[in-house]
Amino acid sequence: MDCIFCKIIDKEIPARIVYEDDKYLAFLDINPVNKGHTLVIPKDHVATYSELDNEQAADMAKKAHQLAPQIVQALGAKGFNLCLNNGSVAGQIIDHVHFHIIPRFGGDNLQLWPGKEEEIDLLDETFSKLKEIK
Ligand code: 5GP
Ligand code: ZN
Repeated sequence: MDCIFCKIIDKEIPARIVYEDDKYLAFLDINPVNKGHTLVIPKDHVATYSELDNEQAADMAKKAHQLAPQIVQALGAKGFNLCLNNGSVAGQIIDHVHFHIIPRFGGDNLQLWPGKEEEIDLLDETFSKLKEIK
Protein backbone atom coordinates (compact mmCIF):
# COMPACT_ATOMS: atom_id res chain seq x y z
CA MET A 1 0.00 0.00 0.00
CA ASP A 2 1.50 3.26 -1.14
CA CYS A 3 0.09 5.34 1.70
CA ILE A 4 2.37 7.57 3.72
CA PHE A 5 0.22 7.28 6.86
CA CYS A 6 0.18 3.48 6.62
CA LYS A 7 3.97 3.68 6.44
CA ILE A 8 3.95 5.75 9.64
CA ILE A 9 1.70 3.13 11.28
CA ASP A 10 4.11 0.39 10.17
CA LYS A 11 7.09 2.48 11.41
CA GLU A 12 8.56 2.42 7.92
CA ILE A 13 8.90 6.18 8.08
CA PRO A 14 9.44 8.15 11.26
CA ALA A 15 6.90 10.36 12.95
CA ARG A 16 6.57 12.07 16.31
CA ILE A 17 3.99 9.66 17.68
CA VAL A 18 2.21 11.08 20.71
CA TYR A 19 -0.36 8.30 21.19
CA GLU A 20 -0.88 4.74 20.02
CA ASP A 21 -3.31 1.95 20.79
CA ASP A 22 -4.50 -1.10 18.89
CA LYS A 23 -6.81 0.93 16.62
CA TYR A 24 -5.46 4.50 16.45
CA LEU A 25 -2.30 6.50 16.10
CA ALA A 26 -1.77 10.20 16.80
CA PHE A 27 1.33 12.06 15.66
CA LEU A 28 2.53 15.60 15.12
CA ASP A 29 1.78 17.09 11.71
CA ILE A 30 5.05 17.63 9.86
CA ASN A 31 3.87 21.07 8.73
CA PRO A 32 2.04 22.43 11.79
CA VAL A 33 -0.36 25.34 11.41
CA ASN A 34 0.01 25.92 15.15
CA LYS A 35 2.04 24.46 18.01
CA GLY A 36 0.92 20.91 18.75
CA HIS A 37 -0.97 20.34 15.47
CA THR A 38 -1.70 16.63 15.74
CA LEU A 39 -3.20 14.09 13.34
CA VAL A 40 -5.38 11.23 14.58
CA ILE A 41 -5.69 8.26 12.24
CA PRO A 42 -7.23 4.79 12.38
CA LYS A 43 -4.75 1.98 11.85
CA ASP A 44 -6.99 0.39 9.22
CA HIS A 45 -6.54 2.16 5.91
CA VAL A 46 -9.71 3.94 4.87
CA ALA A 47 -9.43 6.89 2.49
CA THR A 48 -12.16 9.23 3.70
CA TYR A 49 -14.42 9.79 6.68
CA SER A 50 -17.40 9.14 4.38
CA GLU A 51 -16.20 5.60 3.82
CA LEU A 52 -16.31 4.75 7.50
CA ASP A 53 -19.58 3.34 8.74
CA ASN A 54 -21.49 5.33 11.33
CA GLU A 55 -20.04 3.40 14.26
CA GLN A 56 -16.45 3.68 13.03
CA ALA A 57 -16.93 7.40 12.46
CA ALA A 58 -18.25 7.84 16.00
CA ASP A 59 -15.39 5.77 17.41
CA MET A 60 -12.82 7.92 15.62
CA ALA A 61 -14.48 11.09 16.89
CA LYS A 62 -14.36 9.64 20.40
CA LYS A 63 -10.62 9.16 20.06
CA ALA A 64 -10.14 12.78 19.05
CA HIS A 65 -12.36 13.80 21.96
CA GLN A 66 -10.14 11.77 24.32
CA LEU A 67 -6.83 13.12 23.02
CA ALA A 68 -7.56 16.78 22.32
CA PRO A 69 -7.97 17.98 25.91
CA GLN A 70 -4.76 16.25 26.92
CA ILE A 71 -2.86 17.95 24.09
CA VAL A 72 -4.40 21.26 25.11
CA GLN A 73 -3.41 20.77 28.73
CA ALA A 74 0.12 19.58 27.99
CA LEU A 75 0.84 22.65 25.87
CA GLY A 76 -0.99 25.21 27.98
CA ALA A 77 -3.40 25.92 25.13
CA LYS A 78 -6.83 27.43 25.74
CA GLY A 79 -8.86 25.43 23.21
CA PHE A 80 -8.57 23.59 19.95
CA ASN A 81 -9.96 23.26 16.45
CA LEU A 82 -10.98 19.80 15.34
CA CYS A 83 -10.88 19.61 11.54
CA LEU A 84 -11.31 16.96 8.93
CA ASN A 85 -10.85 17.43 5.22
CA ASN A 86 -13.12 14.96 3.46
CA GLY A 87 -12.11 14.47 -0.17
CA SER A 88 -9.70 16.35 -2.39
CA VAL A 89 -12.24 19.13 -3.05
CA ALA A 90 -12.21 19.78 0.70
CA GLY A 91 -8.43 19.96 0.77
CA GLN A 92 -7.66 16.37 1.67
CA ILE A 93 -4.19 15.63 0.42
CA ILE A 94 -3.44 12.37 2.19
CA ASP A 95 -6.00 9.70 1.33
CA HIS A 96 -6.01 8.06 4.74
CA VAL A 97 -8.74 9.51 6.95
CA HIS A 98 -7.46 11.82 9.68
CA PHE A 99 -8.63 14.39 12.15
CA HIS A 100 -6.53 17.49 12.67
CA ILE A 101 -6.37 18.60 16.30
CA ILE A 102 -5.11 22.18 16.30
CA PRO A 103 -4.43 23.66 19.74
CA ARG A 104 -5.36 27.32 20.09
CA PHE A 105 -3.54 29.92 22.12
CA GLY A 106 -4.64 33.43 22.95
CA GLY A 107 -3.50 35.80 20.20
CA ASP A 108 -2.16 33.06 17.93
CA ASN A 109 -3.62 34.86 14.90
CA LEU A 110 -4.65 31.65 13.19
CA GLN A 111 -7.55 32.49 10.87
CA LEU A 112 -9.84 29.60 10.02
CA TRP A 113 -13.25 29.67 8.36
CA PRO A 114 -13.34 33.03 6.63
CA GLY A 115 -16.99 33.87 5.91
CA LYS A 116 -18.24 34.12 2.31
CA GLU A 117 -20.25 37.30 1.97
CA GLU A 118 -22.07 36.17 -1.18
CA GLU A 119 -23.49 33.18 0.71
CA ILE A 120 -25.31 35.39 3.22
CA ASP A 121 -27.89 36.42 0.59
CA LEU A 122 -28.36 32.76 -0.39
CA LEU A 123 -29.04 31.46 3.13
CA ASP A 124 -32.81 30.99 2.63
CA GLU A 125 -32.30 29.20 -0.69
CA THR A 126 -29.67 26.95 0.88
CA PHE A 127 -31.87 26.32 3.90
CA SER A 128 -34.77 25.20 1.68
CA LYS A 129 -32.52 22.52 0.18
CA LEU A 130 -31.38 21.23 3.54
CA LYS A 131 -34.61 21.17 5.52
CA GLU A 132 -35.45 17.59 4.61
CA ILE A 133 -32.25 15.85 5.72
CA LYS A 134 -32.72 13.12 8.30
P1 5GP B 1 -4.98 16.91 4.66
O1 5GP B 1 -4.85 18.13 3.79
O2 5GP B 1 -4.91 15.63 3.86
O3 5GP B 1 -6.18 16.97 5.55
O4 5GP B 1 -3.76 16.97 5.66
C1 5GP B 1 -2.64 16.17 5.52
C2 5GP B 1 -1.66 16.61 6.58
O5 5GP B 1 -0.65 15.64 6.66
C3 5GP B 1 -0.99 17.94 6.28
O6 5GP B 1 -1.25 18.87 7.32
C4 5GP B 1 0.49 17.59 6.16
O7 5GP B 1 1.33 18.55 6.72
C5 5GP B 1 0.57 16.27 6.91
N1 5GP B 1 1.61 15.37 6.44
C6 5GP B 1 1.85 15.03 5.13
N2 5GP B 1 2.85 14.15 5.05
C7 5GP B 1 3.26 13.93 6.33
C8 5GP B 1 4.30 13.11 6.88
O8 5GP B 1 5.03 12.41 6.20
N3 5GP B 1 4.43 13.14 8.23
C9 5GP B 1 3.64 13.90 9.03
N4 5GP B 1 3.86 13.86 10.34
N5 5GP B 1 2.66 14.69 8.53
C10 5GP B 1 2.48 14.70 7.20
ZN1 ZN C 1 -3.14 4.42 4.72
